[in-house]
Amino acid sequence: MKIQRIATALIAFLLVAGSARAQGKLNVVTTVEDLAAIAREVGGDRITAESIARGYQDPHFVEAKPSFILKLQRADVLIVVGRELEIGWLPPLITQSRNAKIQVGAAGYLDASQQARILDLPTGQVTRAMGDVHPMGNPHYWLDPENGRRIVKAFADRFSQMDAADAAYFQARYADFDKRLTEAVKNWTAKMAPFKGRKVITYHRSWPNFCNRFGLDVVDYVEPKPGIPPTPAHTLDLINTMKRGGIKLILVEPYFDLRTPNSIAQQAGGEVAVLLPSVGGKKDVTTYFQLFDYDINLLAGLLQKHQ
Ligand SMILES: [Zn+2]
Repeated sequence: MKIQRIATALIAFLLVAGSARAQGKLNVVTTVEDLAAIAREVGGDRITAESIARGYQDPHFVEAKPSFILKLQRADVLIVVGRELEIGWLPPLITQSRNAKIQVGAAGYLDASQQARILDLPTGQVTRAMGDVHPMGNPHYWLDPENGRRIVKAFADRFSQMDAADAAYFQARYADFDKRLTEAVKNWTAKMAPFKGRKVITYHRSWPNFCNRFGLDVVDYVEPKPGIPPTPAHTLDLINTMKRGGIKLILVEPYFDLRTPNSIAQQAGGEVAVLLPSVGGKKDVTTYFQLFDYDINLLAGLLQKHQ
């Protein structure tokens, strides 16, 4: 039954895909919503872009669904975050899609991390003792807008190669994005400037690129190691760290349980800020610019409050 349903849906999807291509649009599938949002910036109306994971989901642990295979089946381009962010769920989906265009190494497979500045790169041998995730460096690099600028150029170039007729369009949109981003970064930097050097705790290691760019100092994490849930001993350490250092904010991604961070914040006289690590983390945050607008407005307000 299930296979039949999938087959029927597949035919429907292929028909849709066929008509999209007839209109000359590249069909771009991304693993996370941020990459789809960035792809739309340069792709405009000459591409369709959709993400597999939703922005309110933990991108490390996405539950695979048959519909994901169908999305991949009809993709011209697959853009991934890389650095093994998707290692737990994506590889079997790519294989099962049987789509030659998007297999690793094919022209339609694009690993955005190749262009980004990656932090927390491992220096020695990678072992499980270092945590469950992030073995190849920190994959949350899109939270530095300068990395957004780097990867958007790679998208424009790849789309231009695959759809040469629209190359000038993609490059013009890249130039426009580049200009708008420069202006936006200036504003975001100015908003965060009064809080340079302020110390914060974060739940997961999602924020090193963001905090580096905007001058915050991440001193510890609610997770004792990446991907490992909080422990009572570590929680107690954090309360003491916050009290000693006068640290007032714990940044938490929307998909984590708030009980532990709330209890830490309460005992340390601080506050939890649910910051969005992805486009789509809230309904009205649908573009790459809106993501930083949202996070920076929220953070600046809370940092001001806890001066
Ligand atoms: Zn992570």
